[in-house]
Amino acid sequence: MALVGTKKMFEMALKGGYAIGAFNVNNMEITQGIVSAVVEEKSPLILQVSRGARKYAGISYLNAIINVVVSENPDIPIATHLDHGDTFETCKQFVDDGFTSVMIDASKLPFEENITVTKKVVEYAHARDVVVEAELGQLGGIEEDVVGVEDVGKHLTEPDQAVEFVERSGCDSLAVACGTSHGAYKFKIEPKLAFDVIEKIAEKLPGFPLVMHGSSSVLREFVDLINKYGGDMPDAMGVPEEAIGKAAKMAICKVNIDTDLRLAVTAKIRQILAERPSEFDPRKYLGPGREAIKDMVKHKLDVLGCSGKAAECM
Ligand SMILES: [Zn+2]
Repeated sequence: MALVGTKKMFEMALKGGYAIGAFNVNNMEITQGIVSAVVEEKSPLILQVSRGARKYAGISYLNAIINVVVSENPDIPIATHLDHGDTFETCKQFVDDGFTSVMIDASKLPFEENITVTKKVVEYAHARDVVVEAELGQLGGIEEDVVGVEDVGKHLTEPDQAVEFVERSGCDSLAVACGTSHGAYKFKIEPKLAFDVIEKIAEKLPGFPLVMHGSSSVLREFVDLINKYGGDMPDAMGVPEEAIGKAAKMAICKVNIDTDLRLAVTAKIRQILAERPSEFDPRKYLGPGREAIKDMVKHKLDVLGCSGKAAECM
């Protein structure tokens, strides 16, 4: 059985100075691209689903795809995770559906209310052997219906608050605001991550896993391909991969990647449709799109340092 929680993964990631890639899935091709990369690299995997993904694909289709992934890959530890659960009810639904990990994102609420709702999710989830990620501080950018703050530098997670939050809420991991941002238009100038925030929280909460959202790098090769073949993404910019790699060596145990998946598949599809205007078989562009995702994910696993770590995370 390869379906696991994230406890062992995070424990090994902290010890080994790497991070687990958490990739968002929305359909079959994206999932297959991610999974074939993970299988080749022998990496642990967090497959995450947003409320938007479920709405798009339908609960039963998405669950069926995930079930196939789990049953076909007994050697890969796979955690299934709700990304940005907005309410207790949403989190409860995913726990009831068999997900091994949920995120409650109540970071927009005042501190005390964030603790209250997170604690409620923790109590429900822990009773069913499911782990909980919470969020403190605010990220920038936009991801589906998660809209962030404009100046990420002003909403960083405060280390002392993080300690109090973790102790009182009982959450298993914490998404911290350390200068990252959701989406493809994160920054106007190259961002500097607040490594000191990560360091301070790690000092005050030794052995506690932290999570980084909004961590796509908005890889230049894909943006250039998109723009070359009729796209229009002039100012796209992400978090440099060196910064992601550095954070992965610290207390960051989970790194969320969504935008880079979207860019990879879109770039490939645009290229093929532009180069072969008479093509109308979806397999002829979705297939290469899936390959583009696979190559991109393999590269990410390398950046995160989690290639070859599947066995130790079981
Ligand atoms: Zn996020």
